[in-house]
Order: sequence, then C-alpha cells, then structure tokens
Amino acid sequence: MKILDVENLNLGFSCENGFNQALWDVSFSLSKGEMLALVGESGCGKTMSAMSILQLLPKTAKITSGVISFNGKDLLKETCKEVQSIRGAKIALIPQDPMTSLNPLFTVGEQLLEVIRIHQHLKGKAAWQKAVEAFEAVQIPSAEKRLKDYPHEFSGGMKQRAIIAMALACNAEILIADEPTTALDVTIQAQIMNLLEEIKTDRKTAILLITHDLALVREHADKVAVMYAGRIVESAAANEFFEHPNHPYSLALLNSIPANRDKSLETITGQPPSIQQIIEGCKFHPRCKNCMEICTKKIPPEYSVGENHFSACFLNESLERKSD
Ligand code: SF4
Repeated sequence: MKILDVENLNLGFSCENGFNQALWDVSFSLSKGEMLALVGESGCGKTMSAMSILQLLPKTAKITSGVISFNGKDLLKETCKEVQSIRGAKIALIPQDPMTSLNPLFTVGEQLLEVIRIHQHLKGKAAWQKAVEAFEAVQIPSAEKRLKDYPHEFSGGMKQRAIIAMALACNAEILIADEPTTALDVTIQAQIMNLLEEIKTDRKTAILLITHDLALVREHADKVAVMYAGRIVESAAANEFFEHPNHPYSLALLNSIPANRDKSLETITGQPPSIQQIIEGCKFHPRCKNCMEICTKKIPPEYSVGENHFSACFLNESLERKSD
C-alpha cells in the first residue's frame, strides 16, 4: 500500500545571482514495509528531496511546484501546525550524525519522554513504560538504566539507536534515514542497517534511505532511484537495477565501487555541476562517455527499459517513454 507519493517536485534557491533551480521534476513513491534508496553524489539533491517531505528547508529554498502526498494528503497544502504534528511523529528523521540531534544537557530518557509526551500524549508511568519498550525494541540493553544516561555516555551506535527509538515510540510510518551510518564504524554500520531492516519487516515501516553507498543499497533496499544534478536519472526495483543497470551515470557509479573489483575500479571524470552552472541538455553530458549531439541540446525524457524500470538517457530512444 502506497504511503508516500512525491510527484514532479521542483525546488530552487534564491542566490546572489537570482533564483537557481535545484530539483527538477523529482518523483518517487514509497509503500508500507518498503525501503527506497535515493542514491547519488553529494549535492545531487537527495537530501533536499527528503527535507522537502519534512519541510525542513533552508530559508532561501522554495518549492515551486509538485505534490508530496502522505496517506493521500498533500503536505504542501497543509498548515504549518499540521506538518509539525506529522514531522517527528508520523514521519521521522534519522540523521547522519546522531550527536547533533541529542541535547547534551538532558538525559537520553528525558529527551525520549518529551517526544512521547508531545506526540503520544502520555505522562508518568505510561510514558516511562513506552520509553523502556522503545529502547528494548532497538536492542539497547538494561533499558531502564540507560534511559538515565546522558548522550556522552552513549557510543555513536547507541545514540543512533536512541534516535530510532524516538521514531518507534511515536509509531512513525516513515523513517527518513539520511546517510544513517556514515559517522559509525563498519561493524556498527551493519548493526544499524540490520535494525532498520527489521523495523521495516516487522512493523511495516516505510524507509527512505539517502546514501551514496551502493553496497549498502544492494544489501538492504527494495527500490533504487539514482539522482544526478537534481534529477532522478534511473529508477527500478533493487534486483532489477543491479542486474540490468542502464543509465551511463549508474553504470559509472557501479564501476567505481570495490564490489566490482574483478574489473579495475573506474572513476567518473569531472565534477557534478553546482546549481548555478547552466548545462543545456542532459546534465551528465560533460562527464558522459556516450555523449551524442542530441545530449548537448535536449533534456532526455525517461524511457521504460524494463518492468517499472526507467532511465532518462537518449541511448534508449528506440524504447517507449514513461507515461505520466
Ligand atoms: Fe550520456 Fe546522452 Fe545518456 Fe546523457 S543522454 S547519459 S549524455 S548518453
């Protein structure tokens, strides 16, 4: 069952040189119990797409058009109060660095109880019980005792578990996990990803995973959307994507990960463009080995390259276009 539908999201920033578009017709959807990975290099727009859902955008950013439908309600048409009540409760953020999300002056338990009081309207023993259950659900041992600890007494992995516990205590329907393991050791990374996968399977929570790590995506995601310079250039079920990658940018990303080390590792020449840079046609064309004349003039539409598999590349011109 579809829970989130982002359609043709366009967003830009007011800069010194005027208004610069940063997201171009971004569309993706998420169903209950599904993990969608938004993949791409830093600055490609994946975090901005996710923050648009939570409407946690910088002051200079403006969504110019699009729909963000959560359980059938367009969040872009809701009042600030309504969005606030959804944010942190129904849709929760698991940040890259958990330390910045926990207040060092309060115990982790106090912070969890505050979230439970605001979003679940529970107090006293009932709230405490809920906090203990949430800590147990994220496998924090000696939950009652650890709730009384301050953030500095928790390791990085434990802090990330505590943040996830806050989302579980509110019965969040969607978790937005923004590079959730980047700040953690490799073994802890695996534990956190396994925990997210368990939550997805057991509670049918939908997870939007933002990452540049294709190895993580291969292991955990159900669907993949690859972003480049503010556009989704390829989307598919994860199995289909890894078996039949199509877009030259996706292929370049896959050839640059160590999992494919039977071949020599490739690099992608050049840099992704900044939002101020105007590039006509396909934005990947200055870095693309397959660039043709048309690529420098026209924006490639999305072509259907497999079942529910789309790729915005002129190399697929003989195939059908994605229907809106
Ligand atoms: Fe490369 Fe052209 Fe495809 Fe863009 S449209 S990825 S430049 S071949």
